[in-house]
Amino acid sequence: MADSNIFQATPEAKAKASQFRLFAILAWLIAIAGEVVAILKLIHNETLTWLIVAIVVILILTIIGNLLWKKANHLYPPSESNKVSFFFKSQLGAIMSVLAFLPLVILIFTNKNVDGKTKGIAGAVAIVALLAAGITGVDFNPASVERYTKEINAQTDSLKQLTNGIDHVYWTVKAGSKYHIYKDCHHIKNREIGEGTVKQAWENRHIDNGELCETCKTRAEKEKLSSSDESVVDGVANIPVDSVR
Ligand SMILES: [Zn+2]
Repeated sequence: MADSNIFQATPEAKAKASQFRLFAILAWLIAIAGEVVAILKLIHNETLTWLIVAIVVILILTIIGNLLWKKANHLYPPSESNKVSFFFKSQLGAIMSVLAFLPLVILIFTNKNVDGKTKGIAGAVAIVALLAAGITGVDFNPASVERYTKEINAQTDSLKQLTNGIDHVYWTVKAGSKYHIYKDCHHIKNREIGEGTVKQAWENRHIDNGELCETCKTRAEKEKLSSSDESVVDGVANIPVDSVR
């Protein structure tokens, strides 16, 4: 079946993502500048402590960059249409982590002016930092317009089976990854809620793992069984006609 609802990041999500990407790039640049300083000034027996301090600072900056970058990708996902560009956009954190530590690791181990003990300690710390940064940089479940679109359409289809074809849900504006069929579901009672289609739920809440609330699902299944001859499920019957498509 053709995917009819194509995911589109909201202007708000796009603005937030641009901001996160900018901060991520700044954090990575400062981390790499720190690495250059460490390479030029700190690979000596006498400055071992400072070298380790520098590695820790570079690690923190790299991880901040990696997390912001991933968050941005999940707010405003890249397209998979170009596989190479998609790989770089999704895994840039891992690439930057290698850049931030691999040259330093190599130069620690090949430095002729430091003794074996310094090499061992500094080298081990730098390798651990490289791995820690690398793991936070890899996106194991990268977001893409195509993946979001596919999930939204699959979820819309299964929702419609529960609600006699009505694609109308509720979600809490502030938090939570679930959307609800019933406005009076106790999970969203007395909370600020938004409403619309499943696609709008995904787009408006700026999260990437939308799913139907289990309580609403069970209730809809029960109501469907008990009133299979009625055309509209109780509780969603008061939806304006134009949204019932
Ligand atoms: Zn619910």
